[in-house]
Amino acid sequence: MLIYNTIFETRSEIRDILLSGKTIGLVPTMGALHRGHISLLKKARQENDIVVLSIFINPIQFSKGEDLDKYPQTFEEDCKLALEAGTDIVFAPTSKEMYPDQLKTKVKVLGVTEYLCGEKRANHFTGVTTVIAKFLNIVPCDNIYFGQKDYQQFLVVKQIINDLNFPAEIVLCPIVRDYDGLALSSRNRYLNKEERQEALCLKEALDAAKDLITAHKIREVKEIEYTLIHIFECYSLVKLEYIFIGIADNLEPITKIPEGRKVLIALAVSIGETRLIDNLLLQI
Ligand code: AMP
Repeated sequence: MLIYNTIFETRSEIRDILLSGKTIGLVPTMGALHRGHISLLKKARQENDIVVLSIFINPIQFSKGEDLDKYPQTFEEDCKLALEAGTDIVFAPTSKEMYPDQLKTKVKVLGVTEYLCGEKRANHFTGVTTVIAKFLNIVPCDNIYFGQKDYQQFLVVKQIINDLNFPAEIVLCPIVRDYDGLALSSRNRYLNKEERQEALCLKEALDAAKDLITAHKIREVKEIEYTLIHIFECYSLVKLEYIFIGIADNLEPITKIPEGRKVLIALAVSIGETRLIDNLLLQI
């Protein structure tokens, strides 16, 4: 496995790979790898000749007061796991390498960025799309892999790939969960024992929503939201940020669950200092 910190080295390696006609799968991450990230690497391994993992804690997608300074960094362990998952190249640039000068060009997606996580984290998605556009120029891949856990991020990146004609296919991979249903996240390691227990509210709420819609045939979004709010109220450390129920393709809000269209139920909460998200895709 090759490990590069510079754009120059990565580019020249990628150029040789492209000239040899091999396909490339890119898995962008911020490191602190867990089984969720590994599932993306394994999917990329199955579908491409060469698998590239990027590890970069992208400062411009964090707002002031967020966890940029304490974001977990486990580079050595990440490389071990990446190797085991069949990664060929790790691209791990520094901030200075990615942003040597003050950035005067940004990639901003309209529409799908304005709700859910975009409402409270104004610059977050512009930070994500800008860095992904840079990665797609540094590593012009055939396939790029994202997890459903960050479903809105997937939609936003899909938008730049379509709008800016990046020649990559975007692949969505299912959410990987811990033994008790908590979606794996690098941020889970911030949780103390009580907070970790309370974090189960997300899965409980999603299971309840699924049950209401599929088993009890509830169609009124307000009724589902009401039940979910009630669940969150039972958790004393949990502060609900949002419940979103809408059309999965474009995040259009709905009042009734429609038939024949994929619906997204997305949740965000804070538990102590830690912000967690989770979601469910459903079609009836
Ligand atoms: P991050 O390092 O948090 O930026 O995540 C990098 C990629 O891994 C993103 O595409 C995430 O959606 C994906 N990811 C994170 N957690 C999970 C999970 N539990 N299951 C599947 N994919 C995940």
